[in-house]
Amino acid sequence: MNKLLNIIQSMDYPELKSLQKDLYCGNMSLAIKSKIKHLEKNKSDNQSLCPVCGTEMESTKSKFTLIFGTTGFKKKAIFCEIDCLQFFISQLKETEIKRW
Ligand SMILES: [Zn+2]
Repeated sequence: MNKLLNIIQSMDYPELKSLQKDLYCGNMSLAIKSKIKHLEKNKSDNQSLCPVCGTEMESTKSKFTLIFGTTGFKKKAIFCEIDCLQFFISQLKETEIKRW
């Protein structure tokens, strides 16, 4: 977040108004989604991105792997730290509670 704050601090008035407009129109959200999709597509087979914080890591060295889902449709998620795994499970739990 510091990197983003530094960029915002360096922007002038017209740039900030343009950024503000992009934020309200949803253009920034689309740009972020597109960049994430691009990064996920380009990672190698041994590289994984933590689904919570986006940290790149070697999937073979991960200590925190979660396999979940139904019998016919298993999903695998690899986390950089136990905090990310814990956050993911809490979000998964909330999603399941809302579903019922
Ligand atoms: Zn993480």
